[in-house]
Order: sequence, then structure tokens, then C-alpha cells
Amino acid sequence: MNLIVYLLTLFSLVSCGENKSNYTNNDVNNITLSRDSLQGEVKKAIPDGLLRLVKAYPDFIDRADENNLYFKDGTVMQWDDGIAGKTHDEMLDSPDLEDMMHQKYVKGANWDSPPAENFEPGRIRYEPFFKKMYGNTSSEVKKNLVTINWMPSVCGCNVQVNSVNGMAEKLQAVSDEIESTLGAEFDKYLSRTGGTFNWRNIAGTNRLSTHAFGTSIDINTNYSNYWQWDGDMVWKNRIPMEIIEIFEKHGFIWGGKWYHYDTMHFEYRPELLVE
Ligand SMILES: [Zn+2]
Repeated sequence: MNLIVYLLTLFSLVSCGENKSNYTNNDVNNITLSRDSLQGEVKKAIPDGLLRLVKAYPDFIDRADENNLYFKDGTVMQWDDGIAGKTHDEMLDSPDLEDMMHQKYVKGANWDSPPAENFEPGRIRYEPFFKKMYGNTSSEVKKNLVTINWMPSVCGCNVQVNSVNGMAEKLQAVSDEIESTLGAEFDKYLSRTGGTFNWRNIAGTNRLSTHAFGTSIDINTNYSNYWQWDGDMVWKNRIPMEIIEIFEKHGFIWGGKWYHYDTMHFEYRPELLVE
């Protein structure tokens, strides 16, 4: 009798164990299924960087999906080229749109200064993207250039910049706002310009400068610091934040926020500034 009770008890324990085990397996299967469908959802989400590009360049870009940017003329540009583990230099030399957008530019005075090694949002540029909008060659860019009067009362400089994407108007707005809101103590930084349009490569590289597209301006070089001139990588700056904040307000990033700093340099890159 005792043996029967013992055997029944043993059987019921084993059954419980099996039931529990089955339940757990089912549970695991359910969790795996939910995780797979969640990953499916994540894959379908449009990356923030792509959304920023759509928002920043409405004249050219129609829409984006999870890995493509669709231009209004039917051109499609890929977000991720699928090449993983690029070094910073490799990203500079052969980036995709994802590499271009992966560092976040911080507006205003509360940025992390001096920049960490190779932290330089905006310095990685997917060249075909800019060539498509502003011009593929020097002569194509020249057709889009207009002349604006930069800082009429301080510099009185006629500078040539690109009219595409409303960039020339934005630069004129920077000039107007600086002149109407900042005092005479800021004049010395703006009384000369280091240049706007110039079809050239970045010194020491095979990469086009954004000056080639007429979308950048260098302010007075006498008060500027540039890593290639300084001969070291110790970040320095003399340009006041008041000037920088006005540029940023109108869609221009500042080269002084880069590890490879270039404090005279302002560049129209609204995709890094849109909210
Ligand atoms: Zn420059």
C-alpha cells in the first residue's frame, strides 16, 4: 500500500514537472515570438537622421522609409551602406547618410567644450547629397550663386553664395540680425570675410570643401583658430557665442564645435539643427 502511495506521489511530481516544463517552453516561445515582432517594428521605424533630412530640405526631398531617402525628382539615396565598423577617417572619406548624421550637433552655449576626440558633427558629409542640390561641378554651382551684401555697415562685402534651399536669404538674415542686435564690440570679428564660394578641396584631402557649394562663410581670419594652422590639436576659440547663436538660429553650424576645429567657419546644415 505504501509503495502504491509512493508511486502515485512520484508520478504526480513527474507530471507536474513535465507540465511546468511545457509551460515554460511555451512561455519562451511566446517571448521569442513577441521579440521577433518587436524587432520587426524597430526595423520598420524611420531613423531620426532620415526624418531630419526630410524636414530640413523640403524643396528637394519628398519622404523617407527605413533605409532610403526619396527625392522629388525620383532619385533614391540609401541611408545605410551596410558597411559596419568604419573608423572616423573612413567615415570622413567614404560615408553614407547614416555616418553623416550619427553625431548630434548641440546648439547654443551649453555644448560639451572642448570637443571629445573626433567628435565633430557635420564634418562627415555624404558628398553626392550636397552635389545633387547645390551643383555637381564648379559651373553648375556658379549657376546657382547670388550676391548678397554681408554686414553692410561693418564689412560692406559682396559675397557669392548659393540660392538653393533659401541659403542666401538665410545668410542675409544672419547679417541683418547681427547688425541689428549686437553692439560695436563684435564688429572686429565680422569686418572682413575669409571667403564664401570657392570650388576647392579641403586642405590636405581629396574631399570637396562646402565652400565649393557656396554654402559656407568664413568670418575674420585674424580672430580665428584652425587646427591645421595651429599645428596641435589643442582646441582654442576667440569667436563670441553671441555670433555663433545667431548663425545657428538660421540653420548654420559652427566649425568651432569640432575636434578638428575651424572657428571662422559657418556652414548651412539645417538637418543638424531642426528640432
Ligand atoms: Zn570655411
